[in-house]
This record gives sequence, C-alpha cells and structure tokens, in this order.
Amino acid sequence: MGKGGLVSAKKKIAMLAALSVAVITVIVSAFFMPRTTEKNFFAMNTVCNVKITGKDSKTVAQELEKTVVGLDENVLSRQNENSITARLNLNGGGEIDEKLNEYFSVLLDVCQKSGGSFDFTLGKVSDLWGFGGEAAVPNPYALYNELGHTGYENIALSANSVTFEDEFAVDFGAAGKGIALDSIRENLGKSETKEAVVSVGGSILLYGDKDFSVGIRNPEGNAGSYVAILNIPEGCVSTSGSYERFFEQDGKQYHHIIDPETGYPAKSGVVSVTVVSQSGILSDALSTACFVLGTEKGMVLAKEYGCETVFIDENKTVYVSDGLRDRIEITDKAYTFSE
Ligand code: ADP
Ligand code: MG
Repeated sequence: MGKGGLVSAKKKIAMLAALSVAVITVIVSAFFMPRTTEKNFFAMNTVCNVKITGKDSKTVAQELEKTVVGLDENVLSRQNENSITARLNLNGGGEIDEKLNEYFSVLLDVCQKSGGSFDFTLGKVSDLWGFGGEAAVPNPYALYNELGHTGYENIALSANSVTFEDEFAVDFGAAGKGIALDSIRENLGKSETKEAVVSVGGSILLYGDKDFSVGIRNPEGNAGSYVAILNIPEGCVSTSGSYERFFEQDGKQYHHIIDPETGYPAKSGVVSVTVVSQSGILSDALSTACFVLGTEKGMVLAKEYGCETVFIDENKTVYVSDGLRDRIEITDKAYTFSE
C-alpha cells in the first residue's frame, strides 16, 4: 500500500467517525426534540382539539382530555345527575368548594355588569327550547312560567355555599368551555409544554411564547371557512355565534343565545362576537353577554374587563376594539371594517 493509500484510509476513518457523531447527534436530538401531539375528543357537548408541543406531549394531551371530561362530568354538567351542578340544581344550592365559589362570583359579576343580559340561571328556559335535542319553539305560557324561575339576583353566594330557588337551574353552558381552558392552562403550566393550541368548541387557548394565527369563522360558511384572521399572543379566544346552534321552524331561524328579558333568542343585530382575554371564563361568558348586548354596549362591557373584541353584524360589518386593530386582517371581501 502506497503513502496515498495510507492517507485515504486515515481520511476514511475520520470521515466515518464524523459521520457516526453526526448520526448520534441526530438520534439524540430527535429523542430530546419536543414532540407534537394532536388529539380530538368529545366533551362539554362539543368537539375538542388539542395540539401540544413539548416533552411528554402525548401524556400531557391525555391528561388534558381527562381534565376536560372530568370537569364536565363531575362538576359542570347538568345532564349527569351526579355532577356538583346537577346536585346544586336539585337541592336549590348546597356546599361549594373554592373553585366553584370563584366560578359563581366571576359569573355573578358578569350578570351584574351586563345589566342581566348574561344570566346563568336560564337553564329551564333553554331546556324548553330543547337545543340539546328536539328543538322547537316553546309554548309561550310555558316560557313565561319558566322565565319566572330565573334571575341571577336570587342567587345568594357565601364562601362555601350557594343558595337559590328550588325551581332554578344554574347553567354553566355559556362559560363552561372557558372554565375548561383555565384548567387546561393550569395543567400546562405544570408540564414542560412549549406550545399548545387547545379548542373546546368555540373557545380556544393559545399557550406559548409567540404570536398565533386564529381564524374568525364565517357565520354563513362551514367550519373551515374564515372571515378574518387574528394575529395574537397567548391567551383565550371565545366566539359566540347565532350559527353555532340553531333550528328552523316555519321559515324562521332560532338560535341558542337567549335574551333573559324575553326568553327568546337574542336579536341585537350581531351574528358573531369574539372576545380575547387572559381569562378563559371571562372570554367565554363575555362573548355570550356581548352577543345579547349588541355591538355598542358589548364593546363597553368588554372594555370594562380589559378584554378585546371583534363583532360581526348582520350587514357583514366588522367592529374591532382598539387593541386588535393592528392584529386583524379581513380575508373575505364580502366583509368590511366599520368606519
Ligand atoms: P356555545 O355554546 O355555542 O359556545 P355560548 O358560549 O354563547 O355558545 O353559550 C350558549 C349557551 O349558554 C346556551 O346553549 C345556553 O345554555 C346558555 N345561555 C343562553 N343564553 C344565555 C344568556 N343570556 N346568559 C347566560 N347563558 C346563556
Ligand atoms: Mg360563551
């Protein structure tokens, strides 16, 4: 073997060594690289979607599903007769823990500040409309009668108990998805998650140190079609829309957001309201409250809570609060910004 052969053998060894280091580096970094897990499941009467990037993302995603399903079945559900809410409704109140006290006090505050446009004691009225199953316009007398058994003013809250009229049905339907987002964020904070986007129906949690793109659904289109795109940092985004749940009877459409004054679907000229907040429960409750209140009063209410909003009205006009003006882009030319 000549000198040249010796050099190339040495070169070959060096190259092989470099290659092995490279391969090992790739394998090791692939092992430690944050993994992304995506998962869909059903809870709170709606479809939930979880997308998580970080260490043990698969386990974290499983835990999140358990959290949401557990919160629904054990705490907030009115249908599951063993849930805390179902038992409170059966007994006209009872003992509550710190968390439930917090939900009650936040929601009572929204009831008050919205002048009663938000009212989470409408359970029996919602039942009459049957939005969960066989929906139909209720008998006006029955509706009038059930309206008599509503009114947040009649809820008496203390540190560890709540009391209300026996005939009342407390309904967390307008805020439960947001409550779920707050619990999810708490869980994520304890994990090594880098980024996450979790949607529970029309409420979305954005988690991580970056800007996220969130589409605002086209009220007339299907689930994948958007009117505008928001570019926002981490937080909670909830949208309430008349298109989410509705039925038709005698050529008229009836949706599931009720005006507590009349017992009928709210008619404020708004077709969708999106609320951005650091708090999940507030984003969800306020999106419902703002839908009932309409654009002008709704904007004032959300501002009182330091939340940002996007309203879309029947004329396809888009109203944006100050903090989102530079963070929104209309993607459907049929829609225009308000003057
Ligand atoms: P979605 O369920 O489509 O996310 P919302 O968050 O706006 O929509 O909540 C609507 C639900 O809230 C209804 O299905 C009903 O259970 C309840 N609800 C309806 N009207 C009101 C209201 N004015 N205040 C509080 N809760 C309401
Ligand atoms: Mg809501």
